[in-house]
Amino acid sequence: MEPSSDTPRQAPASPAVPATPGPPRAVAPAAISIECIVVKADRIVCTLACNPRLSHTTPALAARLTAQFPDLPRHTCKSAEGTTFAAVMGHTSLPHLFEHLVIDLQVQAGSDEARTFIGTSEWIDAAIGKARVEVSFTDDLSALRAFRDATQILNDILL
Ligand SMILES: [Zn+2]
Repeated sequence: MEPSSDTPRQAPASPAVPATPGPPRAVAPAAISIECIVVKADRIVCTLACNPRLSHTTPALAARLTAQFPDLPRHTCKSAEGTTFAAVMGHTSLPHLFEHLVIDLQVQAGSDEARTFIGTSEWIDAAIGKARVEVSFTDDLSALRAFRDATQILNDILL
């Protein structure tokens, strides 16, 4: 029989979810992880959580990534040190490297090699490794895959 409005009223039902917090969740070890990702009309906005101890690139990391992604150093990237990513690749923030990796993966996945992508990266709170990366896209699924793959690639190399 299905309960109906005729069933006797019960005392306030116990909440389905226990009010007491469970055991603390184990934090997965990761150099970089995606906390939040939002697809906007012209760009994807991603909040990253970086391990503060691995928040910056090194020349060794740059060399390893260049071996895997030879176009990375040739990306346009204007800074006080130059006009390509090569000028800063070995001593920049990990989110900045992540940004260029996402762009590189999107270029690789796309059919139009001349397509250019625009990206930005900035710390929201460098002390805790929280950053925001924004990258333009043509195909949203391909772009989301690029964000996921870039995370995996960096974690594989850094951990
Ligand atoms: Zn750049």
